[in-house]
Amino acid sequence: MKRTIDKLKSMGEDAKKIFDIIQKNGPLTKAQILGISKFKLTTLNRIMNPFVTDKLIVESSIGESTGGRKPTLYDVNLRDYAFVGIDISRIYTQVVFTDLKLNIIYKERFNMDKSHTPKKTVDRIIDICEKAKKIPELKNKETIAAGLGTVGPFDIKRGIMKSAINFMAEGWEGTEIKDMLQEKLKLDFFMDNGANAAVIAEYKFGSGKDLKNMAYFNFGMGIRTAVISNGNIIRSINDAEDAFAHMVINVDGIKCSCGNFGCVECYSSIKAITEKFKQKIIDGENTQIKKQVENINYIDISEAAEAGDIVASEIITQAAEIFGTGLANFINLLNPQLVVLSGPLIMASELFYRVSEETAKKKCYFSKHTNIFFNRGGYFKENAISVGAVAVAIENLINS
Ligand SMILES: [Zn+2]
Repeated sequence: MKRTIDKLKSMGEDAKKIFDIIQKNGPLTKAQILGISKFKLTTLNRIMNPFVTDKLIVESSIGESTGGRKPTLYDVNLRDYAFVGIDISRIYTQVVFTDLKLNIIYKERFNMDKSHTPKKTVDRIIDICEKAKKIPELKNKETIAAGLGTVGPFDIKRGIMKSAINFMAEGWEGTEIKDMLQEKLKLDFFMDNGANAAVIAEYKFGSGKDLKNMAYFNFGMGIRTAVISNGNIIRSINDAEDAFAHMVINVDGIKCSCGNFGCVECYSSIKAITEKFKQKIIDGENTQIKKQVENINYIDISEAAEAGDIVASEIITQAAEIFGTGLANFINLLNPQLVVLSGPLIMASELFYRVSEETAKKKCYFSKHTNIFFNRGGYFKENAISVGAVAVAIENLINS
């Protein structure tokens, strides 16, 4: 018998379309699927019957009737299959197991520190996967494939993280992450940069589900960006996700890690905020934070700002104003309907989110003419990249 993975891989164009509709919108009646797909019933039956036989699509439950016999509903099989989604960032690593609709069945996260070299990180991911597969909810499911969302830029074909800077541990530059993980997971494996993974999840299943244009920003150690324009993901050379971070916002600005001067990232990233705050304390300014200077992190600064610490709120406000100005330029250029701001800094600091949104709206040309929606965290919040990694895997499988 054909393996499930081969069934997913061998779909024709029409089958892909139907599978996509049901995966995204199910459970649906055949009448509803016909309405969305515009296929004829005979064509739909021809496509659907093998799906049902192969148990990729199942008759889920009974739909609402307008009188007479109740119609059957169809949905993707949520009972028999699982996927692994991995999010490796410079601050944390997260592993999830999901079903075919990206519902999380298992989730585990650990912080990255100076000891987390590629080898140690991969070992911990594999341990988590082994443990997860034994839980009752996963024991009887077939794990089909794995996806990874991580820090670009990389060689996506060979699965190499080309110049992964700012990891706390040594050895991340040039990491052959695909080979390292695939060898141990023994699954089909796909990867994309973290921001792209997140925007695919939000666009297909989350806050951008009904839209054609959206932008996603992830604030962690750096600022990672992804864009869906007219239903397509915009890809750059090297699959870099930090292009926006190096938009020049100050012509007389300070030197950036990229070698240029005055980039957004010099002022608005976790690294920039933390370094600036520490310097103020070293220079003798007062703060509510009672930790040793070297141990202060962005969470302390965010919490202090919310509690009224003047130095912390000034630094966060300035950082957000600069980011918001860059964001206004970005919106003018691409005109998204929705802007999702997410990642560790956004989830920790309500102030940073609010000032960013206010500044972008104030300085943006388009906001006076059209409605742009902002969303803090999106639908998937801190799970967006790991769940998005599953979406990347499924999409690649179906299109391979
Ligand atoms: Zn730069």
